Amino acid sequence: AGAASLALTLSACGQNSDGGSKEEKGSAKGGTIGIAMPTKSSERWINDGNNVVKNLQAAGYKTKLVYGEDDPDTQVSQIENLITQGVKGLIVAAIDNKSLNNVLQEAADANIPVIAYDRLILGTKNVDYYASFDNTKVGVLQGTYIVHKLGLDSGKKGPFNIELFAGSNDDNNTKYFFGGAMSVLQPYIDKKQLVVKSGQTALNKVTTLRWDGATAQKRMEDILTSSYKSGKVDAVLSPYDGISIGILAALKSDGYGSKSQPLPVITGQDAELASVKSIIAGEQTQTVYKDTRQLAKVAATMVDDALKGKKPQVNDTKTYNNGTKVVPAYLLQPVSVDKSNYEDVLVKGGYYTDAELK
Ligand code: BGC
Repeated sequence: AGAASLALTLSACGQNSDGGSKEEKGSAKGGTIGIAMPTKSSERWINDGNNVVKNLQAAGYKTKLVYGEDDPDTQVSQIENLITQGVKGLIVAAIDNKSLNNVLQEAADANIPVIAYDRLILGTKNVDYYASFDNTKVGVLQGTYIVHKLGLDSGKKGPFNIELFAGSNDDNNTKYFFGGAMSVLQPYIDKKQLVVKSGQTALNKVTTLRWDGATAQKRMEDILTSSYKSGKVDAVLSPYDGISIGILAALKSDGYGSKSQPLPVITGQDAELASVKSIIAGEQTQTVYKDTRQLAKVAATMVDDALKGKKPQVNDTKTYNNGTKVVPAYLLQPVSVDKSNYEDVLVKGGYYTDAELK
């Protein structure tokens, strides 16, 4: 079987209508696979869930897809239910990377292979494989974009003012995204060509619990009030489109977005529809596109291989140490998208139609 046996479905997928769990028909030859996703509040996870379902069904499995609505306890009990219902395999995008240890022991006791989806699960030996993107690269793309857009890589000296935002502190990806971005930005901060007026540069000062846009908006408002009585923000490192939208709202209500006071360079991640529209409208500047169709295909293939006693294909056996073991991973490549290439990457790539972006 392997990658070739799973049909990759290219159409973007709609949202489930039953509010949490759906069971799909399938030939059921391979049994049922449980899929636990973090939240429906961000469209990427809806697409991920639906794409995993399509790939598994094409390979002859039934599926149970659940969403934890960003509550770690809910996710634990959902996974417990899936195990009780007799799923043959689990694909899990964790809400809190450390809260799943007990329930994954139950999965191991029942001989259920577990694939960590997009986010690594920490502190347990009971995670068999990891399907994700090169998460450090995501941050490098964001940092590099800022440096380039400000002209710092082509002789401009600044100083430019920048503020930094990171993702949820219970998501293992957060430190990789932030670390990747800071590997590019820190040298300019050291040379004082980039200045963080708020002084908030340490990861534990800039995280955003559960990636919540409203939390980020509030923090941006506080920073504008306390640190920008004079001077203006030239760039904002934002790790995720939903956070970028919150930051933009704070900036706009502070008067940014006019000829005399343009919006800063602002990054993002996931190429969510609202953010791609914002990029086209000249508000958000950039996003990092991660093709969830590809990720879903990799994860579905991994679980299929594991159940058939084949070794799933991996391309990284060094990076993702979860505290108990290095989890063999297959990492896909993220792509930087802005106004200049969204048409090529997102529309020609079949992720969105031009009509959707209108
Ligand atoms: C994912 C990102 C996403 C974020 C918020 C991270 O774990 O890798 O793609 O933006 O969660 O949902």
